[in-house]
Amino acid sequence: MGFIRDITTLFTENQIEFNTLLECIGYTAGIKHVVRLCEKQDTALIIKEVCERHGLPVLCSRYGLKEAFSTGLSDTFYKITDINDPQCTRSVLFIGDAEWTEKAERVEGSGCDAMETAELYSYPGCCAHNYRLIQQGQYWLDCFLTNATTGFEFSWKCNKIAYLFAPYLTIFPDYFPCSPSCSGTEKLASDYEEVLRDYRMVELLDLIRLHLQGLTLVAGGEVVYIKQFNQVGDDFIVEDNHDQLRLRYRKAGQNILPDRITRISLQGDLLVVSGPPDKVSQYQTAVSDNRILVFS
Ligand SMILES: [Zn+2]
Repeated sequence: MGFIRDITTLFTENQIEFNTLLECIGYTAGIKHVVRLCEKQDTALIIKEVCERHGLPVLCSRYGLKEAFSTGLSDTFYKITDINDPQCTRSVLFIGDAEWTEKAERVEGSGCDAMETAELYSYPGCCAHNYRLIQQGQYWLDCFLTNATTGFEFSWKCNKIAYLFAPYLTIFPDYFPCSPSCSGTEKLASDYEEVLRDYRMVELLDLIRLHLQGLTLVAGGEVVYIKQFNQVGDDFIVEDNHDQLRLRYRKAGQNILPDRITRISLQGDLLVVSGPPDKVSQYQTAVSDNRILVFS
């Protein structure tokens, strides 16, 4: 536990991101055989030193990463480059026994086949299958919504959309779940939940759960995350506009959302969004990128 204590300190000092802490927890709890961390070069050295101090096997890859492209959903994709390339901004660090880290370095070096990667890092197979579409350029959010079961109620454990907003938390590692109804993701999230309880990190767990419970509206090329609302049947009255977090990920079309949302109603196939003074926008829910999802 000394290792997790030191890694947690790095997180509370803002030296590492939450995902790095979660990955390390996954490794020490035995959820994963090997962990892959994509870090700024100086951060990678700090983490490597902590691993070595606690006797954890660690491998720093012989190559670096440079930015390939980023998306309107704040995701940055990297590609392999020489460690001396001036554009190299990230190092890849693997934690795990040699048999696993060598395999991980080889898979990464040969272009990250989605199925092989999922098997290595214990991600659900359905999500790996879906990741191939994301590698081909589709937005993960489009896949996520297209694959979702009908209705609007989903488990907070599968909320990847909240990751778009500060404090950028999820309760599963940094992969793309195939849908908000993915049972593999819910199982994996439950494993992490249990470990956080075992490690007595209940305060952190509460913070994660609070962040992941909320209403998300995807319409008009925007994602809106609302934490405070009253639900009566298919009607959602937004209580407090201070907690309306918004992200535009597509160009605005004709049918833009009200500046402030006060009410969202599901009326058959229509999603009706209202805001002052009397702005009303309507969206067809038959189109999968118009959707309301309540994570509880
Ligand atoms: Zn899945």
